[in-house]
Amino acid sequence: NRERFFHTERLSVIGELSASVSHEIRNPLTVTNGFLQLLKSSKNLSQDEKRYVEFALQELIRAEKIVSDYLTLAKPQSKNMIYSNLEVETEYTKDLITPFANMHQVNVQYCFNNSLKINYDKNQIQQCMINLYKNAIEAMKEKGGGTLLIDISEQKQNILIKIQDTGIGMTKEEVLRLGKPYYSTKEKGTGLGMLMVYSTIDKLKGKVEVQSVKGKGTTFLITIPV
Ligand code: ADP
Ligand code: MG
Repeated sequence: NRERFFHTERLSVIGELSASVSHEIRNPLTVTNGFLQLLKSSKNLSQDEKRYVEFALQELIRAEKIVSDYLTLAKPQSKNMIYSNLEVETEYTKDLITPFANMHQVNVQYCFNNSLKINYDKNQIQQCMINLYKNAIEAMKEKGGGTLLIDISEQKQNILIKIQDTGIGMTKEEVLRLGKPYYSTKEKGTGLGMLMVYSTIDKLKGKVEVQSVKGKGTTFLITIPV
């Protein structure tokens, strides 16, 4: 499959790069953020200085966003590896994004029915699910709301993860661009979320199928072999 070949090619380069960078960069970002917050609350700042601090904080937020979409592209870490059925991770991340969904009139439906276990990095799976849920909610936000369906089930020796939204959908061309580094149609997007998703599923020897209708919605169907 041609499309899959290109994805894998891209992933090996990006994966190596991010492995060394992402983890290291988080701490200094947090520290810088803390000091800038302190500076911001100082009473001796001029109008201009206040503005500079505000810019610096905004750019930090952007850097943090890039790192969090990107972070878990790193190779799986042995301390995060578990042998389980994805229930804890998919449910935890569903709870995590529910306030964000509610904020945008998105109703979340969650269905779990899987007893098959696999080896996986729990942080990577969490980040992968968050990236997919977030994209789905963002696609519905533009339509004033909708329904996010998360369905985890098993079929023969495969775990099936279905993530369905009633958002803005994509054209065929847009679907083909998914996972290309920095491809984003959002004003403040990183274009790294789907790259991370493909990378994670790739490592599990799984596949990602995308069905999308422009204006109607999108379904991601992920199949992971046991
Ligand atoms: P970002 O979310 O930062 O833009 P992603 O890699 O997560 O980057 O997604 C890339 C692009 O793919 C998005 O900008 C959007 O155009 C498209 N996309 C991803 N998921 C969906 C979805 N569920 N519905 C519609 N478009 C989507
Ligand atoms: Mg995204």
